[in-house]
Amino acid sequence: MTKNQSFAKKIEAGLYNAARGVSKLSYPLGWEKLEIDENRSLWASYTPDYKPNAPLNVSTSADLCIIGGGYTGISTAYHFSHHYPDKKVVLVEAKSLANGASGRNGGMMLNWVYGTGAMSDEMTQRVYSATHQTIENIESLIKEHHLDVSYRRDGCFEVFTDEQRAIEAKAEVDYLNRIGIPIQFLDADQVRQKINLQGVYGGLFDPSEGQLNGVQFIRELRPVLEARGVEIYENSPVSKINEGKTIEVITKNGRINAKAIVLATNGYTGKLGYFRKSFFPLHSHVFSTPPLSEDESQKIGWNGSAGFSDDLNRISYATKTNEGHIVFGGGSNISYGYLFNNRTAFPGSPHSATAAFDDMQKTMGQYLPGTGTMKRAHMWTGTLAISLRRNCSIGVRGQHKNVYYALGYSGHGVTAANMAGKIITDLYGGNTAQWQGMPFINADFSPIPLEPFRWTGYQMMTRLTGKSPREPHR
Ligand SMILES: Cc1cc2nc3c(=O)[nH]c(=O)nc-3n(C[C@H](O)[C@H](O)[C@H](O)COP(=O)(O)OP(=O)(O)OC[C@H]3O[C@@H](n4cnc5c(N)ncnc54)[C@H](O)[C@@H]3O)c2cc1C
Repeated sequence: MTKNQSFAKKIEAGLYNAARGVSKLSYPLGWEKLEIDENRSLWASYTPDYKPNAPLNVSTSADLCIIGGGYTGISTAYHFSHHYPDKKVVLVEAKSLANGASGRNGGMMLNWVYGTGAMSDEMTQRVYSATHQTIENIESLIKEHHLDVSYRRDGCFEVFTDEQRAIEAKAEVDYLNRIGIPIQFLDADQVRQKINLQGVYGGLFDPSEGQLNGVQFIRELRPVLEARGVEIYENSPVSKINEGKTIEVITKNGRINAKAIVLATNGYTGKLGYFRKSFFPLHSHVFSTPPLSEDESQKIGWNGSAGFSDDLNRISYATKTNEGHIVFGGGSNISYGYLFNNRTAFPGSPHSATAAFDDMQKTMGQYLPGTGTMKRAHMWTGTLAISLRRNCSIGVRGQHKNVYYALGYSGHGVTAANMAGKIITDLYGGNTAQWQGMPFINADFSPIPLEPFRWTGYQMMTRLTGKSPREPHR
């Protein structure tokens, strides 16, 4: 272990101990506010005529009130309204559907649930199969409802920038294949036949993964849900929740008395007074190129496969859309940021983060020669919920067991948040067999220190080590 690595380990351990020490402090709710900025992503540019629904301005009641109109909220509305057509569902969204991470991400539709830690063979098979089934469902739902959504199903890579890690990945693939999981290991030359990536020693390739335009997917589902009777209100931020057998959900000009609610607010959930010590809102920058011509694509050597991510702490991730854009996120220490007091919007225009975007594009150019100087067509920032162990949790809480929640998917939420809607619907109905014992059901989170330790710890960690705070799996 180098001197730097051992220092990093000490800081990591110190942060974790600090977190344990302050976890009992109460949080000063009054001085934080919910900030939600405009979604300027490439994905949003494909729904130029979208008009948000009118805000809630009455007092109403519901069997289920869903707070948040991203993948978690919309997938819950979809599964719940299918299983319980006679129950009244109201969904309230602070701004417009898909305005959060679901409409601003890298678009990679991946298997697995991030941060589960070690699993038995049987659990490994069950978790893989559940996410695989979710991706299949997304595709069949697009087909069944004739949604106008751009997506790809030609596989994604996790590539290795270190020879030893590539060797270990190959052994991992051998194990997965033995238990029936059809992931492939491709050596560097085989990777380059699909995407001409430089500086990689091989990659895990999962042919069933893909890419999804989340803004189109979610917004195209709105009329499907409304036809089933789901009421959807946009520009309706929830400011307060009063728990009880009937829960009062209060918005600026309205109120919902609900028998049960779903917190589908991921990186914004702390602002409602829930899970404040469990995660921090992390801002991640992403940009896209203009659509590349067939000729340009060939020159770069992106011939097949939806995308790749790498094996580094400040992960690079990239996809190519059917329309020809390359979408690139991460890849630089300054491409990720935590803002004091859990701010949920990145201030200023994308141009105020030029240094970050320049650094990211340098990384892209190293992986894909010829792309480092390309024009950037769209630049945006998204907010995700990051827990210390990078785990998510999906479950139910509260004295009356009527507060459902799903959050903390890290950078792996496209599939997991779509799966969350099915899980919440199953938990509601007591159909828990499929999810029994899964490591993310009602999972606990390691506590993260509150301010000013949170901001200070994040800054120290990222500046001194170039890494994000992360507690090793227990
Ligand atoms: C930059 C970035 C890149 C990513 N890349 C990938 C990727 O390539 N692959 C992958 O699998 N995952 C990726 N992720 C993660 C993934 O996008 C998220 O985990 C997932 O979209 C979370 O969905 P959600 O519905 O839970 O949250 P969100 O999509 O954030 O939705 C929450 C919604 O709640 C609303 N809301 C918040 N507070 C309130 C309130 N008080 N009242 C009413 N409404 C409220 C918000 O406006 C928002 O619309 C990425 C995330 C980011 C930010």
